[in-house]
Amino acid sequence: MKCPTCNNLMIVVEHNEIELDYCTNCQGVWFDSEELELLLESISLESLNLFLNNIINFPEAKSSEKKRRCPICGQKMRKTTIGQQPDILIDVCQQGHGMWFDSGEVGQLITQLLDKPSERADTQGRVITFLGEVFRARD
Ligand SMILES: [Zn+2]
Ligand SMILES: [Zn+2]
Repeated sequence: MKCPTCNNLMIVVEHNEIELDYCTNCQGVWFDSEELELLLESISLESLNLFLNNIINFPEAKSSEKKRRCPICGQKMRKTTIGQQPDILIDVCQQGHGMWFDSGEVGQLITQLLDKPSERADTQGRVITFLGEVFRARD
């Protein structure tokens, strides 16, 4: 799969049996809906559709960042934010194919986790925690 930011071919990284596509050039991560489903099954109660719909229906974030295209369907993704203080800006496919995290966003996410690791017990918080683990494991 090609990176939505720089078009480089992404590699697959695995953590706790969940696979993510990772761009070695810009360090972004693509989280595909099937993998997200596996992750949600392993950690939580909420269904994938509920989770994705939730994210897709968040207000669109104002950002000067270029719109990125979904690596699966090629349509422009929607920018939205997850997490709290600072918010993490992500790109999400409106067809529900997955989510894209820029490297800087993942960095923010890890900082956020180090600040208050166990505060977020909801589904979003768990997904964030998982991503943080993936990246700490890679350092
Ligand atoms: Zn890239
Ligand atoms: Zn898509």
